[in-house]
Amino acid sequence: MLELHAVSKSYANGTRALADISLSVDAGEILAIVGGSGCGKSTLLRLVAGLDVPTRGTIRVDGQAIASPHEAVGLVFQEPRLLPWLTVARNVGFGLTALPPAERAARVDAALARVGLADYGERWPRELSGGQAQRVALARALVTRPRVLLLDEPFSALDAFTRVDLQDHLLDLWADTRPTLVLVTHDVEEALVLADRVMVMRAHPGRIAGVMQLDTPRP
Ligand code: ADP
Ligand code: ADP
Repeated sequence: MLELHAVSKSYANGTRALADISLSVDAGEILAIVGGSGCGKSTLLRLVAGLDVPTRGTIRVDGQAIASPHEAVGLVFQEPRLLPWLTVARNVGFGLTALPPAERAARVDAALARVGLADYGERWPRELSGGQAQRVALARALVTRPRVLLLDEPFSALDAFTRVDLQDHLLDLWADTRPTLVLVTHDVEEALVLADRVMVMRAHPGRIAGVMQLDTPRP
């Protein structure tokens, strides 16, 4: 479970990126965040990921305060950000170095199979299409079994057909361990298709304009 209590963020130049955000996302819930440019969506994700700190307020995952980059929280960006000098399998296994090699290999293989790339483990990132690379990024983010997965415009760079394919892969992967998902998107249709709740944000200062509860069927 992800909890934000009275979170505000002001940058050094005085910009109030977030003002008094309180929000609770259940374990296994999918929350989509929509809103225009500059309303604080990326700032919110950075704070939850522990990449930056709030000016005021608290953020907790399963009751524990988030202070710095945290293994309970995974991140996927608009670009896949794969490491070009590692094979696809090693990119996916990158966060699993603490596991025994056999278990690591099994988890990597299962994650690649889940995104339809079972035969791509020994390929290089530069050999992948944009959609394939983003599938690898999803596999890499979920293979560590984070409690919370943050997705920042994960499919915006893809064409419409590939986007729908990736949405399906995301739901398949999510169903394995059912982490809490927070999905930032400018695609309202995507928010309505994927999420249990849609939160709309507004800018100057960044705040919650409203939250819509959906009755989204889950397997
Ligand atoms: P969004 O992701 O919704 O477009 P951001 O979180 O990127 O919004 O930005 C929210 C506001 O904070 C904007 O006004 C933006 O210009 C400002 N901002 C973002 N990052 C910084 C920064 N590092 N320093 C100063 N202002 C920033
Ligand atoms: P191989 O070299 O045949 O892929 P390894 O036993 O070296 O077999 O690795 C097994 C699996 O563990 C690989 O598929 C890879 O995903 C992962 N792995 C191995 N070494 C690393 C590493 N240094 N960083 C990340 N993942 C690794």
